Amino acid sequence: MKHYQVIIIGGGAAGLMCALTAGQRGKKVLLLDQSDQVGNKILVSGGRHCNFTNLWVQSDNYTSNNPNFCKSALSRFTPDIFLSLLEKYGIPYNEKKAGQLFCNKEAKEIVNLLLKECEIGKAEIKTNCEIKNIQKEEYFLINTNLGDYSAESLVIATGGLSMPEIGASGFGYDIAKQFGLNIIPTSPALVPLVFDNKHFRDLAGISVETLVSCNKKSFRESILFTHKGLSGPAILQISNYWNKGEEIVINLLPDIDLVKTMNKWQKEKPKAELKTLIGELLPKRLVQKWLELYCPNKPVNQYNQKEINKTAQVFHKWRTIPSGTEGYKIAEVTKGGVDTKELSSKTFESHKVKGLYFVGEVLDVTGQLGGFNLHWAWASGYCTGQLV
Ligand SMILES: Cc1cc2nc3c(=O)[nH]c(=O)nc-3n(C[C@H](O)[C@H](O)[C@H](O)COP(=O)(O)OP(=O)(O)OC[C@H]3O[C@@H](n4cnc5c(N)ncnc54)[C@H](O)[C@@H]3O)c2cc1C
Repeated sequence: MKHYQVIIIGGGAAGLMCALTAGQRGKKVLLLDQSDQVGNKILVSGGRHCNFTNLWVQSDNYTSNNPNFCKSALSRFTPDIFLSLLEKYGIPYNEKKAGQLFCNKEAKEIVNLLLKECEIGKAEIKTNCEIKNIQKEEYFLINTNLGDYSAESLVIATGGLSMPEIGASGFGYDIAKQFGLNIIPTSPALVPLVFDNKHFRDLAGISVETLVSCNKKSFRESILFTHKGLSGPAILQISNYWNKGEEIVINLLPDIDLVKTMNKWQKEKPKAELKTLIGELLPKRLVQKWLELYCPNKPVNQYNQKEINKTAQVFHKWRTIPSGTEGYKIAEVTKGGVDTKELSSKTFESHKVKGLYFVGEVLDVTGQLGGFNLHWAWASGYCTGQLV
């Protein structure tokens, strides 16, 4: 049986970062992955341009049952540490919006960088590796289709459940349960929401700048009507904070006060129909549907103040309850996961099982859209790699 100081299961962003960091400290490291190549999710991330970090990352960008847990790692692994790696390899990048950094060329450059850094650290990588069994005696004993290995430290970096067709599995949760660790229930996140309500299906394709709110969180971005419900950045963001059965509130006209605007229209354009006037602010198909469903269309001077207030409500506060999400198949991440109260926020080692570590998306730490999830994977992998 071949012995290593550190075995990492899962060769995504967190596992690779952990392998290269521990390897470059002189640790004897083996990384095992079930897929035929490592870094599959990095390759598809950010529309294949990999939104690899966010300049303004802070703990508020993450949801977790234990919101303070991520603070320590985020303070030790800042975006400039990752940027210095890109600069070392001359990989060009650009800032899209709000601190979001993307590769100019392709995400593959990031995977190649990580592989080169693993090589420098002499970390061994084995793909197509099926883990059959893990036991802990004096060391962790790992039985696989490629042979048996033992290790002093075992790092689980197998990610969450989103996108099973590119290697996602519940393996990390199973190992956590096997060793008696608690799991915070999981659900798809950064995911489109679906509605039973068929009224909106003929609006598919319409995109609108909005303010979307749920559970005291708001996002000022666009929504996109789909055949199943709603998508677009504002919806993906709010899906991290939405729980089944809850309503979301959408302000379709966040830049104006419709009550004041209608009062003004009554003076300036009294004979104009409401659908024409609001049709200058929002897509006409959407306005038509809203007036059909929620308030009658007529010349603007025929609305009394009560009707004006009601009209403003339906455009400023569209309250709707999604029936669910489009699921793990297209979710970018998994909310919930290994309970971080079970781990040291400094090393990510289990309080119960010495030498057992969890890093990356497998943990109950979920980032917003904008480079925060990859940043969490790098940060957690780096902190463990430094101390394992
Ligand atoms: C389409 C898409 C686009 C995204 N874009 C971005 C983006 O631009 N910016 C951003 O910040 N985040 C993005 N994300 C989220 C981000 O990619 C993930 O949060 C991050 O990659 C998680 O890293 P990880 O290492 O924890 O897990 P993963 O990257 O999921 O890696 C887990 C690894 O474990 C392996 N594995 C799983 N089960 C087993 C097993 N039983 N045995 C052995 N190996 C196993 C898998 O093959 C995989 O290689 C995106 C996600 C998706 C799906």
